[in-house]
Amino acid sequence: MEAKANEGLWECRNQRLRHLVRHAYENAPAIRAKFDSVGIKPEDVQTVKDLAKIPVTTKDELVRLQKETPPFGGFLAAPLENLEKIFLSPGPLFDGGNVKERVGRLVEMFDLVKAGRGDRVMVTYSYHLVPPAHWMDEAIRALGATAIPSGAGNTDSQVKIMHDLEVTGYVGTPSFLNLIIKRAEEMGYDFRGDFKLRFAMTSAEMLPPSLRQSFEEKYGIQVVDIIGTADVGWFTYECEQKYGYHLSRDIIVEIVDPATGKQLGPGELGELVVTPFDDSYTLIRFGTGDLSAYTDEPCPCGREPFRLLGMKGRVGEAVKIRGMFVHPNQMKQCLADFPEVKRFQLQVDQVQYRDIATLRVEAEAGADEERLSAAIIARFPQVCMVKLDKVEFLPPDAISPEAKVVVDQRKWE
Ligand SMILES: [Zn+2]
Repeated sequence: MEAKANEGLWECRNQRLRHLVRHAYENAPAIRAKFDSVGIKPEDVQTVKDLAKIPVTTKDELVRLQKETPPFGGFLAAPLENLEKIFLSPGPLFDGGNVKERVGRLVEMFDLVKAGRGDRVMVTYSYHLVPPAHWMDEAIRALGATAIPSGAGNTDSQVKIMHDLEVTGYVGTPSFLNLIIKRAEEMGYDFRGDFKLRFAMTSAEMLPPSLRQSFEEKYGIQVVDIIGTADVGWFTYECEQKYGYHLSRDIIVEIVDPATGKQLGPGELGELVVTPFDDSYTLIRFGTGDLSAYTDEPCPCGREPFRLLGMKGRVGEAVKIRGMFVHPNQMKQCLADFPEVKRFQLQVDQVQYRDIATLRVEAEAGADEERLSAAIIARFPQVCMVKLDKVEFLPPDAISPEAKVVVDQRKWE
């Protein structure tokens, strides 16, 4: 029965893919140009396997195409006035994705925690320009629950909100939830007894098993970890078996060789490429830049067997810090404002589950380090959209000219 239902799921995806491809080819100039560049027509794409014929669109390419043809780089396949919201994500990238489509996938995932009327759910992502908080907010309200847009930062006020409003659900990064709990304990609360938090939907960072265990066993919080990208939204979630991430019904995912775009088999590490069923902003075969692998062994939960085995790193040099991608060229752009900086390198560490971004800098002789450090810390989030924790000054020639712009020292255990 289950095997049959799962076959039906892929047949349904193939059917929707055929419709999407035809619609995008007819309405989105960038998609038509892609098809033309390799000499294929919509009828050449009948199934998910055939997707391999279409070149992958990388994030860098999307940034370039949006610059050439603003605002959406030719991927919009609907009148501009149809868009409910438009976001600006790091890249910089305008996002005109179909909100209902993004939200539909989240509603499917909230079923794991049986969220609904009577739940009060805090959304601790930033509401400023970037989409994730908005999608979550809409999904929570679509479920009949109450959304609390508590936004990012300000731990003390988050503790008060969570306590006084008897919040039942948390949406955000695992490290920030940990910070809120620890702060509540410092303030003298017994978290398990004084708070009503029953579930957390975590994302945007690796969830270390030790931290998950502490949430679940010590604090009695049901944790569902989900994965997505700022470009196409969340699309994959862990079931109660906690082995691999199941796909939303409403997405196509491939693991491909980043060099050739060829689809890879189970267990092979490759780039995660996604195709959302969005016929207004048609990101067909969007290369997320994330490395992952999949399994197709049946899952005891009975959902479809295809599961992603988590995120294994980044294809290029871009790095994800506290849920935000930072590209080396954004850093270069930021540091270009400081001629006293001769060389620099970003080092990312993890301390108590939290990402720490340190900018290592070689400055000109005689530079005022204190002033320079303060100016860089102020400027960095404006360009890179993520906060810098510290600036460290190094002696001349400490950074080799060939050194990587980003050194990621995080270990995922
Ligand atoms: Zn499962």
